[in-house]
Amino acid sequence: MILLNPGPVTLSARVRAALPGPDLCHREAEFAQLTRDLADKLESVYAQTASDYAAVLLSGSGTAAVEAMISTFAPSDAPTLVLCNGVYGERIVDMLTAQRKPVIPARLPWEAAIDVTQVERLLAENPAVTHVALVHHETTSGRLNQIEAIAALCQEKGRHLLLDAVSSFGAEHIDFAHWRPLAVAGTANKCLHGIPGLSFVLAQRQALENQPTQATTLYLDLQRYYQAQKSGWSPFTQAIPAFIALNVALDEFREAGGWLARQALFRQRSEAVRQTLHACGIQTLIPATDSASMLTTYCLPATHTYRALHDDLKAAGYIIYAGQGHYSNQVFRIATMGQISASELQTLQTRLTRFFSRNES
Ligand SMILES: *Cc1c(COP(=O)(O)O)cnc(C)c1O
Repeated sequence: MILLNPGPVTLSARVRAALPGPDLCHREAEFAQLTRDLADKLESVYAQTASDYAAVLLSGSGTAAVEAMISTFAPSDAPTLVLCNGVYGERIVDMLTAQRKPVIPARLPWEAAIDVTQVERLLAENPAVTHVALVHHETTSGRLNQIEAIAALCQEKGRHLLLDAVSSFGAEHIDFAHWRPLAVAGTANKCLHGIPGLSFVLAQRQALENQPTQATTLYLDLQRYYQAQKSGWSPFTQAIPAFIALNVALDEFREAGGWLARQALFRQRSEAVRQTLHACGIQTLIPATDSASMLTTYCLPATHTYRALHDDLKAAGYIIYAGQGHYSNQVFRIATMGQISASELQTLQTRLTRFFSRNES
C-alpha cells in the first residue's frame, strides 16, 4: 500500500530493514547512546536550534508530544490563548480543558489566514494571557499558518509561543532563531519518515532547566524526561523499535539534503497531483500557495462520493484521507510524504483521471 494519508507514511526499504533491530534494554548504555544520537539529529534538523533548544523524546503519537508540551509549559494560574483554525487547534483547547488549566480559545475561520491584527486585539483584551499556542501546519485544511508575524507580536508583547509542528517538522521552515518559540512538538512518522510510536518536543533549554514544571501528569512531564535524557536515560520504557527506525530515517533525511530537499520533493509531488485533479475540474479548498508542501485538501465534486473515491484508489493500492470536523463529506486530502516512486505517482494520476472522468458514484 502507498499511504497518502497525513502520517503514518510508507517506509523506505532501509528504514523497514532496520525495524527488526536487536533486542535492547532501555536501561543499557547502547540505548542511552541511541537516545543521545537521536536527540542530536533532531536538534540539527534546523540549523539554528543548535545550542539553546533540547529535544526531549517520548513514546506515543504526535498528540502525546503536543499534550506533554501543553502540560509542561502552559500555566495553571494564567490563561493560554489558543489560535484555532482547524481540529488540531481545537485539540489543544481540549487538552487545556482536560488539564483544568485556564484557556481562551480564539475560533478563527478555517479557510482564511490568521489575521494578526485580530491576535493583537485578543492579546490587548486579555492582558493576563502568558502563552499563545497554535498549529503550524493545520492538517485539517492543509493550511501552513504564517508564524512570522504572530511570533514577532508574541515577543513584542512578552508572550510565550507554543507550536504544534507535528505535520510540518522536517519539511517546512521553522525559524527557531527569530520566532523564539518556547517549545515545538513533532513526530517521527510524518515528514521525517519514521514509524509511529515516537514523538518529541524541542524546547528552550533554560525553560526545561530553570522554570518549575506546570505538568499535571507524571508521565508527560518533559522536565522529568529532560533531566534523565541529558545522559541518554529515559524515566520509562521507550518504544525501542521506533527509536531504531527514526535513527535510520534521520540518516536518510540528512543524506537526501535535509528539510529543504524534503519540502521540494513533497511540493513537486503535490503539484503533480494538483495538476491532474485540476484537469478533472477539481478545486483545492484553499489556494495552493497557502498549502503546506506535504498535503493538499480538495473539494469533493457533487457527482462523486468520498467512499467511492477512497475504495477505487484503495483497490489500486493507494490510501487517501477523508475530511475532518465540518469538512467531512465535503473534501478529500492527499498527502505526499513517504516512499513513493515516480511511476507509483504516475499510476495514481492515471487512476484519478479515470475515476473522475466517470460521471457517477
Ligand atoms: C498528525 C497530527 C497530530 C498528531 O496526531 P496523532 O494521531 O497523535 O499522530 C497533531 N497535530 C497535527 C497538526 C497533526 O497533523
